[in-house]
Amino acid sequence: MARKLTVVVSQGQSANPAKRKLEEEIVAGLLFERGVEVTVVPHLYDLTPDGTGMLCLQGITGDMVVVSWLFERAAFWTLDRNGIRGREGKIELVNETEDEDDEAGDELTSDKPRVIASRELPNRTIWCLDLKARPDAAPFLEEVQRIKRLAEAKPVSILGWIGGAPNSSQMERFENPTNTTSGVDANGKLNGSAAPNGSVTPNGVAATNGFAPAAVDEPPATPSVPHVVTEDAGRRWYPVIDYARCTNCMECIDFCLFGVYGVDKVDTILVEQPDNCRKGCPACSRVCPENAIIFPQHKTPAIAGSPEGSAGAFKIDLSKLFGAPDALEQAVLERDVELTAVGRDAVGMGVGIPKRQADKHDGPKDDLDKLMDGLDALDL
Ligand code: SF4
Ligand code: SF4
Repeated sequence: MARKLTVVVSQGQSANPAKRKLEEEIVAGLLFERGVEVTVVPHLYDLTPDGTGMLCLQGITGDMVVVSWLFERAAFWTLDRNGIRGREGKIELVNETEDEDDEAGDELTSDKPRVIASRELPNRTIWCLDLKARPDAAPFLEEVQRIKRLAEAKPVSILGWIGGAPNSSQMERFENPTNTTSGVDANGKLNGSAAPNGSVTPNGVAATNGFAPAAVDEPPATPSVPHVVTEDAGRRWYPVIDYARCTNCMECIDFCLFGVYGVDKVDTILVEQPDNCRKGCPACSRVCPENAIIFPQHKTPAIAGSPEGSAGAFKIDLSKLFGAPDALEQAVLERDVELTAVGRDAVGMGVGIPKRQADKHDGPKDDLDKLMDGLDALDL
């Protein structure tokens, strides 16, 4: 039996007519897609951990496409925080403002161990699409069709894919095949030579050959009914950790004085008390040296998880963003504003400032370096 692909459409926070129209057109188009189940939830980021929306998403165990008004990275790691995990699927529908340089910059530039390498993932793939990428539904429907073909063509007989997640080399070979027996070409298109006798079925689905069986001469699809989940969730504000970047350095837990961060049983950083975070404040995202902390609703795309906020933007904005001295000063100011807002004393540079800044370079020390050295000497 062919696998089902679930497409989750996460609605925007506001009832903006243009946004609602796009969401509705996508849902309407998907209802005629054979092998696709559609679930509609309120804004993903606002869903509470034990609310009906998140419980519904946690019940989806197969491959999943999540279409939301969040940047792809923000959506993927918001799901992860709520136990909805899988391999991150590569998407082709990217924001047109992302040029090739941005994509190239998306690669991590250091070989530091990342938390993701130590985590077990279930045997499924999650693709996240950003509704901001296009103004009309057609490109999203085409991308879902491409992903559906990819999901249907997943090998079911490769050792290591049964009872456990495929490893990175298996998925890499599947998504970027170097031979003609993979069933899918480098563009995610079905490869005709993979089917017996070198053929592809009339509806473009590869015949068996180790892949999901193809349906031939199927009758036209009748529309299915979307599963609509309602949840009266208010707007939330909390950090989301990108574990593909996080090195578990703990600078965020040292910096945050509101008890947002914690660690799990194996001492991995996590956002333990998300709703303790101060609304509108992104301070710790500026402190994280890996740009691993995302505030999905922040107005600055780099902080909200845009691709430009990854390593590419690091090169451009290092002096202003993420872990650099200017960013630290700004983060300290933002933290002090929040401390005083709740009647606590401002602490300035006196608490939770990363020591790495003091020995980051061997050049002449500036005033901030000297201040950091002084603070380090106090061993606070
Ligand atoms: S500061 Fe960043 S890299 Fe370090 S533990 Fe926190 S999220 Fe991870
Ligand atoms: S933004 Fe401020 S309150 Fe929120 S987690 Fe970061 S440091 Fe803590």
